[in-house]
Parts: sequence; C-alpha cells; structure tokens
Amino acid sequence: MKTTIDVGIIGGSGLYQIDGVKIVDEVSVKTPWGIPSDIITIAEIEGVRAGFLPRHGRGHFILPHEINYRANIAALKMLGAGQIIAFSAVGSLKDRIKPLDFVIPDQIIDRTKSRISTFFGDGIAAHIAFADPFCSRLHELILVAAQHLNIAMHTKETLICMEGPAFSTRAESHLYRSWQAGVINMSTLPEAKLAREAEMCYAVICMSTDYDCWKEDEEHVTVDMVVNNLNKNASNAKALIKQLVPLLKQERTCACNQAIKYAIMTDPAKQPSKQKKKLKAILPHYFS
Ligand SMILES: [Zn+2]
Repeated sequence: MKTTIDVGIIGGSGLYQIDGVKIVDEVSVKTPWGIPSDIITIAEIEGVRAGFLPRHGRGHFILPHEINYRANIAALKMLGAGQIIAFSAVGSLKDRIKPLDFVIPDQIIDRTKSRISTFFGDGIAAHIAFADPFCSRLHELILVAAQHLNIAMHTKETLICMEGPAFSTRAESHLYRSWQAGVINMSTLPEAKLAREAEMCYAVICMSTDYDCWKEDEEHVTVDMVVNNLNKNASNAKALIKQLVPLLKQERTCACNQAIKYAIMTDPAKQPSKQKKKLKAILPHYFS
C-alpha cells in the first residue's frame, strides 16, 4: 500500500525527531528535484497522519543555504500532504519577544541570496501571489492548539530570513529592528514560496533562542545557554504538535489550494514536456 500523509511537519535547529506519538512508518522519497534532507517519519495522532522531516537532517549536517528546499516540499506534497507546519529557531529583534517565546509571523522580508526559490522556469513561467506569505487558517489553528500549553505566543510580527550561515552584524541587526521586524532566521525562504507554488498551506512557528546581537546590555550569550534554549523549545514544539495535528483534519477553507490557478503564464502549446512531467509530480491538476 502506498504511504500517504495529511500534513507535513518540518523541524529546524533542535527539533530533529518527534516522539511520544505513534510512529507508523519511515519512508525515503525521491522527487524530480532530488532527495529531501532525510527520511520522513510518519506519525499518527488521533487519526491524522503527519510526516516529519528535519530540514537540516538528523545530526544537523546541512546548512540553510545547502538545503534542497524543492525536494523537501515536493516530497511532502508527493506523500499527499496539503499543509505544512514548519518549526524554526530564531533570534529575537524585540525586547518583548523573550528567549523561549514562540512567534507566528504574518510577514517576511527576504534577505537570502543564493537559493533557488521556484519550481518553475526551464520553459514554464508562473508568478504566484505572495502578499500574505503564510496561511491564516493554520495561524488560527496554531493559536487554538497552544491555548492549553504554557508557551508565550506572539503574532502579527515580521520575520527576516537572512542568508547566513554567519549570524548578523550588529549594524544589520539594528537595521532590521528599524524595519520593525520581530524575529530573524535563515530557512523560511524559499520554503514558504515553494509550499505556496505547490498549493500547500504553510505556517512557520518561530522559537526564540536569544536576542540576536543588538541587545548590548544583555548578559553574554553562551553556547550552553543557546543549546539549553533549543532543547526547551524542542520539548514545547513536541507538546504543540500533539495538540495541533488533530485539528488539521478540518477542511481547508483558505485559498492556498488554488495558488497556481491563475499563475501560469506560458502557453500550454509552448510548455516543454520534460518540465511538465516534473511539475506533474506536485501539481497533477495542471500538468498531465
Ligand atoms: Zn491555507
């Protein structure tokens, strides 16, 4: 029987596995864009099947700019997921977002430089709408799931996604603060854009580990402190996953599953069959 999932969960720094839930399978997936960061662990929580993929690989051996984002998104879509909950360790750019707080951003600024951010090209042009980069339905469900957990949640924040792998300079950190951004990471783009192209709902749960480097009166941040915060955040993330996944069996009432409907510009007669065949793996309604 072919393995299928309802939802994809992408783990970031500190979150390399899910536990305390019923694991039903482990699958390796090959996509037209290559292989994802690791095998996908499939868990079943109250009848909903979630496929878990750590974006840096188990053991953390893939840097943010080295991740095959297209393979990761395609693999989850090819297993049947229509929605993705992503987790990411972030630095805080605001006083009130403390280490160990969670943030569900509603906007993002792209400061990445060297990444392939589309499934299209190679003869087929498409432009998706990305004004609201995250799924508002998932956003609401995450808040519902977090209600009974002891996690400080922030919303209506802007996330900066930087190239890395080095962290920001102090001048950059102050610049991002002047833009009123709330948190910073290195991996939500192009992940969110690719999920939108694949017509998947996507939301990211940012887990604050430290105050980036702008807060000069802050006690010196040590590796120990950051690792400790990563571990605490991972345990909160696992508790949140258990509450959230069962809520995701609700019908998708948002527009994410029609993102490509008016996005493809290329005359069907001019679309190269090789590229059509690749896109068919993730968008079978449009390419046959
Ligand atoms: Zn959606």
